Amino acid sequence: MTQNATPAELQTRAEWLAKEGVVGVTIVWADNNGIPRSRTVPVAQLAAAAQRGVGITTLFAVFDSHDGITFAHDGLSTPSGDVRLIPATDRIVHLAGQRGFAWVPGRQVAADGSEWPYDQRSALERQVARAADLGLKFLAGYELEFHLSHAEPAPDRTLRQAHEGPAYGPLALLAVDAFATQLLRDLADNAVEIGQFHAEYGPAQLELSIAAADPVTAADQQLLARQTIHAAAQAHGLRASFAPLVNTEGVGNGWHLHTSVSRNGVNVLSGGDGPHGLTADGSAYLAGLLRDLPAIAAVTAPSVPSLHRLRPGYFSSAYAFWGVENREAALRLVPATELLGADHANVELKPSDASANPYLALAVVISAGLAGIADGLVAPEPVQSDPGNWTDEQRAQNGIHRLPTTAEEQREALLGNDRVRDALGGDLLGAFAAVRAADHAWAQDKPIDDVVAAHRWRY
Ligand code: GLU
Ligand code: MG
Repeated sequence: MTQNATPAELQTRAEWLAKEGVVGVTIVWADNNGIPRSRTVPVAQLAAAAQRGVGITTLFAVFDSHDGITFAHDGLSTPSGDVRLIPATDRIVHLAGQRGFAWVPGRQVAADGSEWPYDQRSALERQVARAADLGLKFLAGYELEFHLSHAEPAPDRTLRQAHEGPAYGPLALLAVDAFATQLLRDLADNAVEIGQFHAEYGPAQLELSIAAADPVTAADQQLLARQTIHAAAQAHGLRASFAPLVNTEGVGNGWHLHTSVSRNGVNVLSGGDGPHGLTADGSAYLAGLLRDLPAIAAVTAPSVPSLHRLRPGYFSSAYAFWGVENREAALRLVPATELLGADHANVELKPSDASANPYLALAVVISAGLAGIADGLVAPEPVQSDPGNWTDEQRAQNGIHRLPTTAEEQREALLGNDRVRDALGGDLLGAFAAVRAADHAWAQDKPIDDVVAAHRWRY
């Protein structure tokens, strides 16, 4: 169904969905904490919702990670106002794991139908359009790590893990066989194409990678994949945690973001004369991301637990550097090979997790990358070891800095970067920063274990 389906076409679609057993259409967006929010309309209201939208408060832009509302951002400092949530009806899916519901991503517009500056999906659409004007096309794909436990915790309230490894083992998958079977089937039915699925390194951890797509689709699919995973888990008495950290100790859940850029259909990250097959544009793209990494990470790994996840030695990235297939690097170049072909080349952003808004994460990555290309930057030599094992002097000599670890460093990185400001726009950036401040204030006097636990089921 096309974006501009007529009301009559949507009415037919709604009738068809109703015949299939759908009673409600859930319109979903992600807020500035990466938390999915939604409104559901009866299926018969689909055409009306597409035309007029559903009224929601303007304040969703200033919801924090704990459903608190901050009034610290000037643009949204009163409880008055309404925005309209419009379903992107070309993306409607009858949910395989929730047969009574259809799912559709939403876009927020102002009450008069004009652009709402706080809408995250529109921010990404603007960057995609900017890239297109420059003759560049992006592909993106999220990789989702999550922790799976039994829905009922142990008597002492600790989580009962759904599998006990071994990491990457088929035995671990066997332990969650019924869930895994339903998940792969439901993802296929929901048209979320995945590359692969495996038991990950961490305790009771699993991972799936979503196939590369245009950026808006990639973000939509990331939201749909979450809903699909949660539904499959629930159907089997399990519970999935997507939080950056499930417990303070141990491995976190990264939602690494893979991107590639092409010009005239040719991937700029491969086939060039530069080192590692990079073209000049490819090198500039990488250098653009590197230049803005602290600010990018403030958007792509923004929560309080995110800051704790980014530790050396966990493959989660702690330092701002790039490497070729270096799993400790914040930017990992996955180069093209003869076996895999030129299209395969991409850059993986490691400081990225479920507490990021998937649209904003891509918007800032694209914006920083385009700026790198416009400025003709040249990437430095890659780092192939782990700077976490170096001395402070060695890191200083090589110009390698830790990514922000405190609220203050994060705020400084976020607000001090003109390219991130341009990508988000002043209003959205202001709301985003206010939400971060609210989150940090909430966490300030609490033990980190409690903070991590409070984020565990939010995503
Ligand atoms: N779990 C790691 C993280 O927090 C990533 C491990 C890997 O897949 O490289 O990002
Ligand atoms: Mg992984």
